[in-house]
Amino acid sequence: MNSMHKNTTLNATYKFHGGIHPTENKLISSSSSIVKLEPGKLFRIQVNQSSVQNVEQTIDIIVTKGQKVVLGEVLTSFQSSINLLNVPVHSPCNGTVLEIELFSCGHKSSLPEMTIIIQANEETPHETSVTKLKNKWTEESQKSLINKIRNAGIVGLGGATFPTHVKLSSPLSSDSINPATLIINAMECEPYITCDDRLIRDYANKIIEGALIVSRIVNCEKIVFAIEDNKPEAVLAIQESIKQITEIELGLSILVAPTKYPSGGEKQLIQIVTGQELTKQQLPKDLNILVQNVATLFAVYQAIVLNRNLTERLVTITGDLVDEPGNYWIPFGTPFSEIITKFNISKKDLDFIIIGGPLMGQKISSFDIPTSKKVNCLIFNKRIVKVEVKDCIRCGECETVCPIKLLPQQLYWFSKSEQWKPMEQLDLKACIECGACDYVCPSDIPLVDYFRFAKSEVKHLLFKEKASELSKQRFDNREKRLNRIKLARKAKQKKATQDRKKASENKSIDPDGKKTAILDALNRVKNKTKQKNETNTGLSNEE
Ligand code: SF4
Ligand code: SF4
Repeated sequence: MNSMHKNTTLNATYKFHGGIHPTENKLISSSSSIVKLEPGKLFRIQVNQSSVQNVEQTIDIIVTKGQKVVLGEVLTSFQSSINLLNVPVHSPCNGTVLEIELFSCGHKSSLPEMTIIIQANEETPHETSVTKLKNKWTEESQKSLINKIRNAGIVGLGGATFPTHVKLSSPLSSDSINPATLIINAMECEPYITCDDRLIRDYANKIIEGALIVSRIVNCEKIVFAIEDNKPEAVLAIQESIKQITEIELGLSILVAPTKYPSGGEKQLIQIVTGQELTKQQLPKDLNILVQNVATLFAVYQAIVLNRNLTERLVTITGDLVDEPGNYWIPFGTPFSEIITKFNISKKDLDFIIIGGPLMGQKISSFDIPTSKKVNCLIFNKRIVKVEVKDCIRCGECETVCPIKLLPQQLYWFSKSEQWKPMEQLDLKACIECGACDYVCPSDIPLVDYFRFAKSEVKHLLFKEKASELSKQRFDNREKRLNRIKLARKAKQKKATQDRKKASENKSIDPDGKKTAILDALNRVKNKTKQKNETNTGLSNEE
């Protein structure tokens, strides 16, 4: 192996501002092995499962009611779409399309979304035939690999669901300060969630192969596997996996960082790995960095090496109401109600389900919502006594922990008085909704709820401003156009007046037009004689 590419394990030395150390509650689910959940009979597939597609957007559904489908079959198309961000969804089973309808799937806007309901067949609906195309990808073009990743329906599986093919479509270009680097995000810093931890322990080789594929697509020189120190088994698994990859010249190092929330945030992670702080305007690619979550890399491996579309994911099922908490392969489209039944969860003790972690997750009280690509964890906890929200005591704790160095207390005051403009100036947009400020607030103020609401209001305001700007522009353009027409008309009138004037002047020199008529007649005779002479000359030449 090239000495420049020694595979090493390092301890992180850089830190990010703020952060918290919440109770982890990870052992509840991380100590048991991965299990494949016995699939149900009915699936509700949201046609839109990527963060950049909105619910109103039209997506081409290419199956019809009553149509038979097989596991992994594509259900939606992006080929005719002008939107390059679209990713398709696939059937999670062999079955029949029962219905295609609008259904409320827990979107932040509360708008219903288009879903495809599939009834599974009785016989072995969840086994795929696997053809491992070993090492073929090393001969494939980057474009072809990106297309396959898109066709497989891969989005960021860390919870963000940003289309992976879009991230991979802008190659990194090295400079002397920042060599093109792929950072594998294995931080998994939120309490309760352990699906990435278990995935690494069981599939380290495959995650590394996924990372090598991505690294080839974007021309990376370095790969850094970044992980928190509360996952020692996963660190060991990765170390073992790297040892086995002897034939590949691999510039891969493992970086173990102290456990602190939210170290898995993209900006915080980059700071931990490189010591560089992205400005509010910068993106990771501005520092020649690409960040990919471990589950996404595993999906890339499955798509490229096993030719398998994304139809399921590993989900942490946890909480004090769950009998057998752990990590389960669950097909997309499985209704939460089915999970409740399978895990014997008492509905009467359940107020809501948390999708994701307790800090950044979403509380859902409708149990018919189906699993999707963004659902990495479901927390079923007992009903809790509601805490009373007290007044802000201006203690400043929220500011101390904010990883973005915002002023949550001030944002809160402006939000309460609905002053959206000053909130914009305080950089509300940069808030990553990590919930660290909520966690430390001694007055139990749901700060993030205020910020989310304010963000949607600011968005609405900007939309209105844009609309009024547009209508002003339209009005100005119309005025300009009318002015142009008016000026043209005036110019025409002026010319007509001038012509008339000229004509009347001519009339005064030759009042009855006799001179002009004589001149015209003379000209006509002259022309005719000329024509005759020309004809005669032509005839004598022919003779
Ligand atoms: S932590 Fe809570 S009480 Fe303290 S300043 Fe912030 S909002 Fe106010
Ligand atoms: S939720 Fe926003 S304001 Fe609160 S700590 Fe996180 S980034 Fe800062």
